[in-house]
Amino acid sequence: SLDSSAALSPMATSLEEKFGWGDTIDCVLKKKMRVWCCLPDTKWGLGKIQSVSGGDANVLLSDGKVLTISVENLLPANPDILDGVDDLIQLSYLNEPSVLQNLQYRYSRDLVYTKAGPVLVAVNPFKKVSLYGNDFVSAYRQKLMDSPHVYAIADSAYSEMMRDGVNQSIIISGESGAGKTETAKIAMQYLAALGGGSGIEYEILQTNTILESFGNARTSRNNNSSRFGKLIEIHFSSAGKICGAKIQTCKHIFAIHCFFADVLDNFHNLSAQLTSFIYHILLVKHLAVLLEKSRVVQRATGERSYHVFYQLCAGAPLHLKEQLKLKAANEYKYLKQSDCVRIDDVDDAQRFQMLMQALDTVQIPKEDQENAFAMLAAVLWLGNIDFSVIDNENHVEVVLCEGVVNAANLLGCKVPDLMLALSTHKIRAGNDDIVQKLTLSQATDTRDALAKSIYASLFDWLVEQINKSLQMGKCHTGRSISILDIYGFESFHKNSFEQFCINYANERLQQHFNRHLFKIEQEEYTEDGIDWTNVQFIDNTDCLNLFEKKPLGLLSLLDEESTFPKATDLTFGNKLKQHLSGSPCFKGENGGAFRICHYAGEVLYDTSGFLEKNRDPLHSDSIQLLLSCSCQLPQLFASNIRRQSQKESSSFRQPSRVDSQKQSVGTKFKGQLFKLMQWLENTTPHFIRCIKPNSKQLPGMYQHGLVLEQLRCCGVLEVVRISRSGYPTRMTHQQFAERYGFLLLENLASQDSLSVSVAVLHQFNVPPEMYQVGYTKLFFRTGQVAALEDARNRTL
Ligand code: ADP
Ligand code: MG
Repeated sequence: SLDSSAALSPMATSLEEKFGWGDTIDCVLKKKMRVWCCLPDTKWGLGKIQSVSGGDANVLLSDGKVLTISVENLLPANPDILDGVDDLIQLSYLNEPSVLQNLQYRYSRDLVYTKAGPVLVAVNPFKKVSLYGNDFVSAYRQKLMDSPHVYAIADSAYSEMMRDGVNQSIIISGESGAGKTETAKIAMQYLAALGGGSGIEYEILQTNTILESFGNARTSRNNNSSRFGKLIEIHFSSAGKICGAKIQTCKHIFAIHCFFADVLDNFHNLSAQLTSFIYHILLVKHLAVLLEKSRVVQRATGERSYHVFYQLCAGAPLHLKEQLKLKAANEYKYLKQSDCVRIDDVDDAQRFQMLMQALDTVQIPKEDQENAFAMLAAVLWLGNIDFSVIDNENHVEVVLCEGVVNAANLLGCKVPDLMLALSTHKIRAGNDDIVQKLTLSQATDTRDALAKSIYASLFDWLVEQINKSLQMGKCHTGRSISILDIYGFESFHKNSFEQFCINYANERLQQHFNRHLFKIEQEEYTEDGIDWTNVQFIDNTDCLNLFEKKPLGLLSLLDEESTFPKATDLTFGNKLKQHLSGSPCFKGENGGAFRICHYAGEVLYDTSGFLEKNRDPLHSDSIQLLLSCSCQLPQLFASNIRRQSQKESSSFRQPSRVDSQKQSVGTKFKGQLFKLMQWLENTTPHFIRCIKPNSKQLPGMYQHGLVLEQLRCCGVLEVVRISRSGYPTRMTHQQFAERYGFLLLENLASQDSLSVSVAVLHQFNVPPEMYQVGYTKLFFRTGQVAALEDARNRTL
């Protein structure tokens, strides 16, 4: 039986109403067919109707018991011939227990992929399944296999790119731990194999190792959670070979650097096509702003900082250890504070060897590698710096210890300079500089801000090095496939600014998904004048408005409050309540907290830290210090940061802007998100929805409530509904006539393309209910064009 904890909710009835095509429940009762019974213990049980009287039915359950149950608690079940179909479209009844059971049936046989119309659903196996590798790649390429697979998705993206000359995107979504990053790697593996030959494909795959070391960490949800989002853009030459790849990172929160804004301006005058291409490359950096850098200095108990720190401590060769004065991971405060240094079954030392090998493969020079490791060690040593209170106003001095000495040496600055930068603040009064001492909490914040900023800059720098190394040959638009692996919707016990941004991004992505699969599809039917009844879908416009509206939206209000020096998280919370209580998606709570009704569920946010994270300050003294360093990287980082904030303050001088602050993190995030969406809008999207079958990261365990929640919130059921009743394949009359006209036995060359098309349809006996003729296009139900393609291929 299936868990139906949520299935008795109105959702279940409305879904049944919505999806109750085929036989009605009356008919099911009469025919005494298989049914799903909602049992008293909130489970779904499969049974067969014995008899019906009044509003009750006697049902023989599969365990042999007979149950009397109100017909309201019954849903039709599919005949067993449909058990485990590989596309949910094929189910006669698309109610929730049927879908859940279908996925479970397949999952228990290691068939982790299922189609939901055009969308691929991937259930994380949490174990090795034998579905991958060269044999499978060539089987999918030669179309010897057609069961649902990431390879099949990657193959259709590739084929459509080659056929239409249009950029493609593979958009992977799902909760943390659902398998997005693994799925992205599997797709890359396929494309690398197809487009290979230049040798770059191995490099592309090796970049995963590097990015995971620096950008992934253990969280409560996933031992290898990506704390950044990435868009991998693979470019192909006209012959279909890989000619370069760009990796764009987006995840997480919160640096202040925006290296390439100036470059963007320089390109404004290029041709539109070129601009959009370069624009896209720029996106790399714009989104790189969003690495979750707070993790470097603090995180929840049981979670880890970025893998690379532990790998370095465990695996650095002797000379490097000496050079960096490295100790074991548990001697560093930044690492040991969350009570988790090791991950079961992971050998950090061995991972470090793999990292070094990958860095070599991607041709990062040894010297750069060592500079990067020095920055990591500097961050670790910064964390060990202590302060001593020197007066009764809580002012501090830095304690002279190995932490401060080693950090200064690794950065290439003088020890006293570092001590001063962390414990004082210079302010300008007239022509003089006045030095103010910092309090303990100010000094700690200054130290942590410096550590975070060095790490975030290092990550950006690394992505840039990788991109440089992968860039080969000349790339053209229209021949690229982008793979988006972005943070999924997050709802924790405590949700802060990080979740706020992540969930906002997910609302946008969900809107893109909706637009493509529902809205655009249906608009196209209506515009082209074919018979069609619109399907309702969950629309998240209200929620997006809540975030984006000016001046009274979440992001605007946050920015406004961030500019008031006296504002607190509490005043921010009150301001939201005051202005947003009218929105259907907003609920104010006590103590500055608030709720947002996201498409995927309601989330409670705690405003503490919002203002500070949105402002994300790095002391000018810290920037000065980095600029004075004799090492190359800190200098580079600092000048980038400075260039960026100058850039921003100058752009704020436009008369329409009143504030003189640098751009806030929230606003920057929104800008980057818009650019990402703009790029995606100009590609043909392919969607993969990853599902986490259990919250324990265990194989063979399928928790129905958890799966159901994910299916509901990602709109998979509606997609199936629309695809089944819709016409997913379409071609203009002309395209169709050009492609298949030559198959005609009768010569109609002089005729218009509509007549040619209709003649083809007749000659091949395509049943009239399988297509519709629109004003400009022909629309086909699933599977119809495959038959014509087959005839075409046989003839060619
Ligand atoms: P996400 O990126 O969605 O947070 P990951 O891709 O990191 O999730 O997957 C989490 C874990 O699940 C992986 O570390 C791996 O152990 C397992 N996993 C995911 N997909 C697969 C797969 N196709 N085969 C085997 N294991 C997988
Ligand atoms: Mg991931």
